[in-house]
This record gives sequence, C-alpha cells and structure tokens, in this order.
Amino acid sequence: MVPRSATLALNETINARRAAGQDILHLGFGEAGLPVLPEVAAALAEGAMENAYTPVAGTVRAREAAARYLSRRGLRTSADQVILAPGSKALLYAAIAVLPGDVVLPVPSWVSYPAQIGLIGKRAIGVPIPRIAGGIPDPDLLESALVTARKDGADPRILILTVPDNPTGTIAGADLVGRVCEIADRHGMTIICDEIYRDLAYDPEAMHSPATLLPHRTIVTGGLSKSMALGGWRIGFLRTPPGLAGQQLADRITGLGSEVWSCLAGPMQAAAAFAFEAPAAVTEHIAASRRLHAKVSRAAHAVFAIAGAACRAPQAGFYLYPDLEPFRPALADRGIETSVALADYLLDEYGIGVLAGEHFGDTQGSLRFRAATSLLYGQTTDQRWEALGSNDPTSLPWISAALDRLHAALQSLA
Ligand code: PMP
Ligand code: GLU
Repeated sequence: MVPRSATLALNETINARRAAGQDILHLGFGEAGLPVLPEVAAALAEGAMENAYTPVAGTVRAREAAARYLSRRGLRTSADQVILAPGSKALLYAAIAVLPGDVVLPVPSWVSYPAQIGLIGKRAIGVPIPRIAGGIPDPDLLESALVTARKDGADPRILILTVPDNPTGTIAGADLVGRVCEIADRHGMTIICDEIYRDLAYDPEAMHSPATLLPHRTIVTGGLSKSMALGGWRIGFLRTPPGLAGQQLADRITGLGSEVWSCLAGPMQAAAAFAFEAPAAVTEHIAASRRLHAKVSRAAHAVFAIAGAACRAPQAGFYLYPDLEPFRPALADRGIETSVALADYLLDEYGIGVLAGEHFGDTQGSLRFRAATSLLYGQTTDQRWEALGSNDPTSLPWISAALDRLHAALQSLA
C-alpha cells in the first residue's frame, strides 16, 4: 500500500484536531495560506463554460501564456515546450517515469520525490545538501556518490534540484548551481529543476536556473500553487528542453498524461492563461505575497535563532528547517531521540504541528523538522487579506501571538 504523503496526511490530521476543538499552531503544511485574487477568480468563472477535453498538453492560449511567462523570467520558451497538467506533482511523476535511469536527489528534499521514484520502480540516490543552502546535492559529494551508486548497480541518470528549496527555504547560489551542472553534464545526466517557489524568491537576482546553464539537459517544473496560492486548483507546468530531444520527451510525457489525467481542466486553463499573462493585479499580488512570506518567515527564523536552534536564513517561500541539536540533552531527558518523536511531542504537548526531517529523507536520529510559516496569516479570509496588506504583519495580533507561542514552547523545551 502507498501511504498518504506525509505533507497531506499531517494537514488532514491537524485539520481534524482543529475541527474537534483543539487549538493547533499549524506549521505543518506547505500551503500558501492566502486568498484567491478576485481577478483570477473572475477568469476562472469566465472559463466555466469550457467543458471540452483540451489537447493533453493544454490549449494554445494557455501554453502560449505560460511560454511568455517563462520567457519573461529569462528562459526563452516556445509554446510547444510547455505541458500543463493538474499540478506539477503529476508532471514530476511523468518526467521521472519516462526518462531513463535512476534518480539522484538532495537530502533533505521534498517528501514526494522519493515516494514517486519508488512507485515508478527506480532507485533514489540521496546526496546531502551543502551547509549553506538546500535543494541541491553538495557538489563536493556528488561525484563520489555517482561512482558509488554505479558500483552498487544503480544507473543514476536523472538529477532533481529544487530551486528555491522546500524544505530549507533557501536558494542554491550561482556557484553551487554551476558546479552541480558541470558534474551533471560530464555524467550525461538530465536535470529536473523544480522551480515552483521561483516567484517567491525574496531577491529575484539570487535565482539561477540550471536551464540557462544546461538548456539541452534541463527540464523545469512550476505552477501557480505557491506564487498565486492556488494549490487546490492544481495548475502546474513542465518546460521541456528546446530541440528535437525535448520534443520527443514532451511526446512521452503527454503520452503518459493522456492515460492518467487527460488534460488540465478547461476552466483552470483559462485561469492559468490569465495569471501567466501577468496583468498588474497579478504581479502586485505576487509581490505582496513575497513581502509577507519574507517578513513572517524571517520573524519565525529569529524565534528559532534566539532559542538557540541552528537554522539557515530563509531566502524564498515560507519554510524553515531548524535543527534542535543543541537541545539534545534536554530532549533526551524527555525520551526524544528522533525527528519523528520530536514532531509528535511538539504536536501532543504544545499543539504545534511541524513535519519531521525524516519525511524529507533526513537521518532518523536528527532533531530537525520543517516549519511552514504560511498558515500563520490567519484562519479567515479577512485576516489573510489584512496580513497581505499590512506593512507590519508580524505585529498583527494573531501572527504575533503565534510567534510568541512558538517562542514560549522553544524556551520550555531547551
Ligand atoms: N514541488 C515542491 C518542492 C513542492 O513543495 C510542491 C508542493 N505543492 C510541489 C512540487 C507540487 O506542487 P503542485 O503539484 O501543486 O504544482
Ligand atoms: N508541497 C506542500 C508541502 O510540502 C504540500 C502539498 C503537497 O505536498 O502536495 O507541504
């Protein structure tokens, strides 16, 4: 049996506890936690009559809009390089399934990569991330990991990168991306770069896509789940490399898609076309979201730092990946020796929901977890709009109370 993905499972658990009356500080799920932009809702409503199956890769209008969006981001893209689908998750699965070879991925990394790799029947080769940033294997370890994997009978030919990263909230810089691309190129690997958090990079200049360095070897995935807070609408895209090999890959992915999801729903394609054209309302909404994510995740980072936890400073999105190793003796006194035990304890004793590092492939005995800060913006739509419009969101009563609660819990744990 395939267990429910740890992210979605924890969200359901926390929502059930809340429905039963428990007061939970929900740091456990990577949902953007913001309202739908009314202009995008209007585009969806206008598209409601579009009830026909579309081509598997999407309508010309939506694919052209996505291609222009990618081109504006510095990746010149034609519409035939774009495949739309219900979520980039489905497209990641399809890409891993149709590409030859086993898969190298950073550790820790997003929970669904190894699960998908296992479902497809391939081997996952985990390589630790560097100290300064996640989403990328440490270039100093990558080459020897490839050699060892081959000795063990694996055939590593796919490399997954997450730039910006989930779970660390960091962005691998130009030097790291360049070094990893050089190794991938030398070993003839295909890169799948998951860029779903790209529009939420606090400093857009910090973002360096491997697709600009290795255009013929790099697939890029992304979507509107994070930047537009539309996770439940399931709008994702995949960009194939240019040229004949890219076209052949697109054919294999759409072949798989044709048997599994048929196409992204027509109304969603209408909404996607609108958003990808980036009218001012959309770009302003994303800019405001980015500012809010940055302010709140930096404030939460300060709370962890003050408590003495080690944690990389966030550079994008809404995640922190603190390490409570300095708390080990105090935690051992309470019988807590693993990341899962720590996350369970935080939930049961303090009503704080976080996702244990083990779910991201981290070592069992680490005391690391992922804290997502995006569900702190409020539990009502009004609160979320207020947070989005505020110059000082961390002083809003519900956000400052949440940060205080986290602070108090960490103080009492140490
Ligand atoms: N990649 C990463 C790193 C994610 O955190 C997520 C979570 N939504 C996804 C991909 C999948 O996004 P979606 O399927 O909503 O496009
Ligand atoms: N990506 C989100 C997370 O990491 C949740 C959605 C999902 O996993 O599909 O929490």
